[in-house]
Amino acid sequence: MTTTAAPSSPSSLATPDLASQAEPARQNLLGLSREQMEAFFSSIGEKKFRATQVMKWIHQEGVDDFAVMTNLSKPLRDKLAQVAEIRGPGVVYEGTSSDGTRKWVLEVEDGSYVETVLIPAENGKRRTLCVSSQVGCSLDCSFCSTGKQGFQRNLTAAEIIGQVWVAQRSVGPRRDTANRPVTNVVMMGMGEPLLNFDNVVPAMKLMLDDNGYGLSKRRVTLSTSGVVPMMDKLGDEIDVSLAISLHASTDELRNELVPINRKYNIRALLDACHRYLSKCPDNRQVTIEYTLIKDVNDQQEHAEQLAALLKELPCKINLIPFNPFPNSGYEKPSRNQVMRFQQWLYDLEYNATVRTTRGDDIDAACGQLVGRVKDRTKRSARYIQSVQLDAD
Ligand code: SF4
Repeated sequence: MTTTAAPSSPSSLATPDLASQAEPARQNLLGLSREQMEAFFSSIGEKKFRATQVMKWIHQEGVDDFAVMTNLSKPLRDKLAQVAEIRGPGVVYEGTSSDGTRKWVLEVEDGSYVETVLIPAENGKRRTLCVSSQVGCSLDCSFCSTGKQGFQRNLTAAEIIGQVWVAQRSVGPRRDTANRPVTNVVMMGMGEPLLNFDNVVPAMKLMLDDNGYGLSKRRVTLSTSGVVPMMDKLGDEIDVSLAISLHASTDELRNELVPINRKYNIRALLDACHRYLSKCPDNRQVTIEYTLIKDVNDQQEHAEQLAALLKELPCKINLIPFNPFPNSGYEKPSRNQVMRFQQWLYDLEYNATVRTTRGDDIDAACGQLVGRVKDRTKRSARYIQSVQLDAD
């Protein structure tokens, strides 16, 4: 494992003097969708097509300095430097696992930390970025370390897309579309993305936009624990792939593992999945995320109940062996039990994949990434120290 305690970005290090504090805030262009960027250029008396030029510089070339945008005139570059900025999250920590998984701990506006992980597929063709949508989470799923931290705040669109921007910048500009640093994005990090709808959707639009990251709708996935009304709204506003954090085969068990189930039960959740798929123009499937927890939901009866629940839904099942964290109260099932569960599903004609644990040596499993990045009270020195201790 290699670890790098990277310096914060220049913008996050800058300490404004009194004169600059008196200046009006500059517009951060990083999180603006194409429509918002066009509106911004109109508002400063410039042509709308400047929006696509600047978007390409930001998201495809990874720049944060107007001076290098050589297809803009010098007066326009100077004007932009006065009224706008491109400000991403500061990098507090960057680590690379022995299996190639990369993790960043990012400092966002108020000094909170979020984590982002880039997971390369073993065949090297896919590099999936797991992106956070909130600082902490209010939903308190009993098997999730993020839920234990409580909720602090929603991330802004700039802070969400900023995670993709940081990951892409660290590898280099995206000139070669066949060899992108980030090929897939899953909104599966800290937080429930549908509880931050107004920021998550514009950020995902930038992921899809040809002038942004240009990812296909099948390569951008939103994972939800089941905020049913917002699933309907999502289908009305954007076309991306959907994953459901199901984790249980009965309401009784899901009420315990995923407490939002007490409000929107499994039937309501699956009905919402059907409605979402009915809005997709192609033959899309929902991904069912099922965390296997020893002696809790990993028995044959659970596999049978799960198969019965899903029999009408076009879906694929992703089995995720539980990744223990301190005081979770749960245990990871044995490898054999995971294989047995997969076989029971297979016998019921479900082809379930098992998510292999990646980035173990940098504590990088999605959804449980942030157990040690707690909150504002847990500052970088302590965090970096803990990570470095792990690396020893
Ligand atoms: S599993 Fe997802 S929704 Fe549940 S507490 Fe964790 S981050 Fe929140």
